Amino acid sequence: MIIVLEKRISDDKLEEVIKRLEDYGFTIHRSTGEERIVLGAIGIQPNFDIRKIRILDGVSAVYRITEPFRLASRDYQKENSLIKIGDLSLGSDEIIIIAGPCAVESEEQIMTIAGIIKNSGAKILRGCAFKPRTSPYSFQGLGEEGLKYLRQAGDEFGLAVITEVMEPAQIDLVAKYTDIFQLGARNMQNFPLLRELGKTSKPVMIKRGMSATIDEWLMSAEYILASGNREVMLCERGIRTFETSTRNTFDISAIPVIHKQSHLPVIADPSHATGIRDKVIPMARAAVAAGADGLMIEVHNDPAKALSDGPQALLPVQFSELMDQVKKIAEVIGRRV
Ligand code: PEP
Ligand code: MN
Repeated sequence: MIIVLEKRISDDKLEEVIKRLEDYGFTIHRSTGEERIVLGAIGIQPNFDIRKIRILDGVSAVYRITEPFRLASRDYQKENSLIKIGDLSLGSDEIIIIAGPCAVESEEQIMTIAGIIKNSGAKILRGCAFKPRTSPYSFQGLGEEGLKYLRQAGDEFGLAVITEVMEPAQIDLVAKYTDIFQLGARNMQNFPLLRELGKTSKPVMIKRGMSATIDEWLMSAEYILASGNREVMLCERGIRTFETSTRNTFDISAIPVIHKQSHLPVIADPSHATGIRDKVIPMARAAVAAGADGLMIEVHNDPAKALSDGPQALLPVQFSELMDQVKKIAEVIGRRV
């Protein structure tokens, strides 16, 4: 931590700041410049609340050097984390495509869509059986019946599956059917759920909360990592801004920012980020160009009748077009789909 002191700080105040820092367990290095004194406080305390120093008399500014997240940071692990799911390796040079409907609606629906996405080259089938809906009157998902259909469709077409778990009490049930747990945006800071997912041995994909900073998102990953589960990936799905032309604002810059700060794979979800079908392909191209390790795309065979998120679901022919385009972009940056 770096502490910049006010110009012409009195000796008493300086001694008081140093004493406080030492009481908190730091070793102090003092640099006296022409105008100011700067203190370096040495000691790894990722949880230290820097406001305790900022409020002291004579302190002008305080800067943290070490990240508050440890296990998720690039400093902790230099190499990219690889998350193995069967013969897939998320975080490698292969960009993994996850696709499927927003929700599992029927056996026939998920079987049809699984066949479509497999045909175009997707590797993981998505579909929620438990839906976090803004309105309690909207379709809430088929529950265990939906999980069964999803697993059955994955097995039939040789696809791994991912589905959302909304509360700790659902973890055992969802684990029976899924390969990857999806933690929804609305649950990114559900700390009891994060902790319980940290005790499981299946990969977890954490969607970014719609008003979460990148640091807060990485702290959520830290909860799972610190609880023992090292199979964590992040998913950028758009954040809330003042812009209303799209459902959310796709923060593509989060992809290279995370890659610099963390070793965890980043998946991009242009479907929820834009909320509009014709914006999904261009944003998918952009996400791949920005370095996403995977894409999550909503696809529906009959989106006009979808029970949730129909307007953002790609038609089968559009999904196949998306695959063709992102393959070309991947090649340009030395990766493959
Ligand atoms: C979803 O993936 O269908 C979903 C509900 O996503 P999010 O949590 O990002 O809103
Ligand atoms: Mn959805």
